[in-house]
Amino acid sequence: MEFKTINPATGETIKTWPTMASEEVWEIARLTGSAYRKWRLLTVAERAPHFEQLAAVLRDNLEDWAVLITTEMGKPITEARAEIEKCAWMTEVYAANAAAWLADEKVEVDGRRHTVIFQPLGVIFSIMPWNYPFWQALRFAVPGLMAGNTSLLKHASNVTGCAFAIEDAFVQAGFPPDVFRTIVPDYATVSALIGSDIVQGVSLTGSTQVGRHIGAEAGRNLKKVVLELGGSDPFIVLEDADIDFTARGAVTGRMLTAGQSCIASKRFIVVEEIAETFAARFTELMTGLKVGDPRDESTQVGSLVNPAAVAELEEQLAQSVGLGARILCGGEKIPGPGCFYPPTVVTDTRPGMRLVDEEVFGPIAPIIIVKDEAEAIVLANASEFGLGGSVWTRDLDRGEKVAREVDSGTLFVNSITKSDPRMPFGGVKNSGLGRELSHYGLKEFVNVKGINVYDHG
Ligand code: NAP
Repeated sequence: MEFKTINPATGETIKTWPTMASEEVWEIARLTGSAYRKWRLLTVAERAPHFEQLAAVLRDNLEDWAVLITTEMGKPITEARAEIEKCAWMTEVYAANAAAWLADEKVEVDGRRHTVIFQPLGVIFSIMPWNYPFWQALRFAVPGLMAGNTSLLKHASNVTGCAFAIEDAFVQAGFPPDVFRTIVPDYATVSALIGSDIVQGVSLTGSTQVGRHIGAEAGRNLKKVVLELGGSDPFIVLEDADIDFTARGAVTGRMLTAGQSCIASKRFIVVEEIAETFAARFTELMTGLKVGDPRDESTQVGSLVNPAAVAELEEQLAQSVGLGARILCGGEKIPGPGCFYPPTVVTDTRPGMRLVDEEVFGPIAPIIIVKDEAEAIVLANASEFGLGGSVWTRDLDRGEKVAREVDSGTLFVNSITKSDPRMPFGGVKNSGLGRELSHYGLKEFVNVKGINVYDHG
């Protein structure tokens, strides 16, 4: 079986790839299993220099790999560079902190010594999405490997070039062979791997629908699983917010990766007192963004990932407009070649409309007008998702109070939702299970083991 990677900004085929025969996948899986038996024996301090080297390799190859990201999935080159740089930084944060984060913990119980230790599990299978092709894959792999596991990566097929570049990064950094391997399996082989004795855990970042499927496969086989899934983050604007500052945040929050981010701001919940002024400034800023060739240094909004993504946005918008939503700017796809859609602001939206109820994976911003803070919180929580979110107010205590009341894995006051290697990342409700990043992510794929020593006699 073969498939093509296609540049979504031009429609041109980049490369035709063969899906690996299942024997090849199994051979690679066995090799990562063998590599695990040696890699696990190193201490965290012995593993750390490999990760420092990995950060250096990422920076050395930054330009080439940024171009690869942009070509395969369409984000602006400036964002692609920032993605690689962030991977290097995250890798350094783990290199510097992992030994402390995985240090033994002493506990007072009733014996002589009680210690909690953190040991690796084995080969962890990661299945990753295309929207941050380096970041998502490394966000799992760096802590996973630092803890002593080895890893197989099945990446989204449209970023197969990135998948092999990431494997190459580990090779260039001098990691032992087969500690990290990329595979290109068909779905049946993915299922078989999850069911096999070789794989001891599964980490999926992707849609909620695929999360249910992979989560069920992992559950059936009693494998530890982490699921990082979709989101529809609320962006709550209270009446005391600075309008210009908040509108600028709204543009960044909605538009990174042309709106195709799990933690993009996706529902703009605005208190009616300032709704009109906010909508006007937000619309003005969105209209001023430069959409176009993602390789152009000045482009702010690149291509969507494929024609189906554009069609999905059109359907979500049409249904919402049919129910009374009003378009303030954008709303018409940009003629091809390429999968371009303009920054779009839509007001008078409410639950029942697809723009509000579903994850909108693209540059459409629905505004939901509410009476007050209390209604804003109710609407923020009226979602199947619970990944991130933000609240905008001059009153920091009020902001933090609202943040505590929103059901999500992370919440920001006066900032867009962003990931940071020192803070945990993940969702509740249909946004997923488990955490990545920080010491919480580092401890997802470990055996938390108690050693209990009693006196003899
Ligand atoms: P997706 O369609 O769910 O795909 C994710 C991965 O699963 C890809 O590698 C895909 O491979 C694979 N896959 C799909 N169906 C499969 C099956 N039946 N068996 C085995 N593997 C299968 O998601 P996506 O379109 O790549 O990414 C967008 C979604 O990811 C959005 O919902 C976004 O919110 C979410 N996301 C979440 C986070 C987070 O941290 N919470 C971060 C980024 C993205 P193929 O490409 O070969 O189909």
